[in-house]
Amino acid sequence: MATSKFSKPRPASKKSRAATPVEKQASRDQRLLEKLRELYPDAGCALHYHQPFELLVATILSAQSTDKIVNQITPALFKKYPTPAAMAQATLTELEALVRASGFFHNKAKNLKACATVLERDHHGEVPRTMDELLKLPGVGRKTANVVLGNAFGINAGVVVDTHIQRLSQRLGFSNEPTPEKIERDLMAIVPQEEWTVFSHRMIQHGRVICSARKPKCNECLLAPECPSRQI
Ligand code: SF4
Repeated sequence: MATSKFSKPRPASKKSRAATPVEKQASRDQRLLEKLRELYPDAGCALHYHQPFELLVATILSAQSTDKIVNQITPALFKKYPTPAAMAQATLTELEALVRASGFFHNKAKNLKACATVLERDHHGEVPRTMDELLKLPGVGRKTANVVLGNAFGINAGVVVDTHIQRLSQRLGFSNEPTPEKIERDLMAIVPQEEWTVFSHRMIQHGRVICSARKPKCNECLLAPECPSRQI
């Protein structure tokens, strides 16, 4: 339709408004995620295992320990007790001797035996595939359950929050919360669900290689331009 000089003038096009602080933060979060993807495309579980039961045991042992130490002690442990049935029959003294190097060995041995007993009694010797069932196993908290679900079964039920991820989430501004449970909730809102498991591996790797607790290497860190905690 032709316009005449009597047509109503069109309203001036709206100026694009400035992003709100929340929108800016969301964009920055996504840029950080993208950078983590680029930096650690193949990040994966550092614990050695061949089946879900082994990963469950290794993850229980990794509390307050390192993956390296756990990987050193699990071959002998898995050889002697390859199934929940076998581990349920172990004496505490035998188990303690095998897991001693991982620290807190009295508790860990007790939990492993009790966990194996429940797996054998209530789950036909299989590791269950739901968060609720896993959380009922002795020695299993949300972090361990997330590790097992994500890595042994490919189920992204939550985000692992260990000490590295807790520290990095706070430094990178993904969360201001003080507890793993609340940090996990924040991360689940930021990270796409299909990446929850691999995201935790990327964060752990960055925490180990660059952003350590005592001496973050901000000068070498490729996340620095977006990191609110950079010290440069
Ligand atoms: S810039 Fe520094 S504080 Fe931020 S993630 Fe990198 S190493 Fe950590």
